[in-house]
Amino acid sequence: MPPRSLPTATIRTQVLVPLGFGDGYTTTARVFSFDGLVDGLEHLAFGLGDRAAPLTSGEKSNPPLVRPHSECLTGDVFGSQRCDCGPQLREAVERMADSGGFLLYLRQEGRGIGLYAKLDAYALQDTGLDTYEANIALGHRADERSYLVAAQMLQALGLSRVALLSNNPDKARQLRRLGITVTKQVPTGVHLSPANARYLATKARSGAHTLDIPLSAA
Ligand SMILES: [Zn+2]
Repeated sequence: MPPRSLPTATIRTQVLVPLGFGDGYTTTARVFSFDGLVDGLEHLAFGLGDRAAPLTSGEKSNPPLVRPHSECLTGDVFGSQRCDCGPQLREAVERMADSGGFLLYLRQEGRGIGLYAKLDAYALQDTGLDTYEANIALGHRADERSYLVAAQMLQALGLSRVALLSNNPDKARQLRRLGITVTKQVPTGVHLSPANARYLATKARSGAHTLDIPLSAA
């Protein structure tokens, strides 16, 4: 059971939304909004595959695949090549549509520092700093993301056990601390491009992400 300290959130609205991606892939999501999320931001959950069905009370025996995805306007919407967020999102949606799961779309842009600060950090990276060093140079922590609202959303969806689709050990650590049982961590693919090779290598080195990146690319 989640610890008592987790503030209760409730489902505000659930509505079916047909999705279509640039490569022609389509699926349908049940999109959930919430009341009571502690930071007051408009985070969403996308139920996919058999989890696009209406919520029923009581947990199913197999924990769903869950991916907390932090908003990245440049990557998710415009296909920025500076990161791998767009392909990660696209992969996560299809894998969850295949096996059933929830994508938690968290409004914490730029590892929580915000969109403008992320662009400031990009400018610093162009002078030689890596993604974490740039955040610190701007007076932020290397990664300011919190998964408290993710845990609240899972609780509102009636989920205490999840299979986490992520390469980031911090997500599993934080969710476990918040009372969510992570039954397993499922790695995502590596979406390497010439423009994001250095970024991915830094994530693997400094963020302890479990990415299998060819050394020649780093
Ligand atoms: Zn991104």
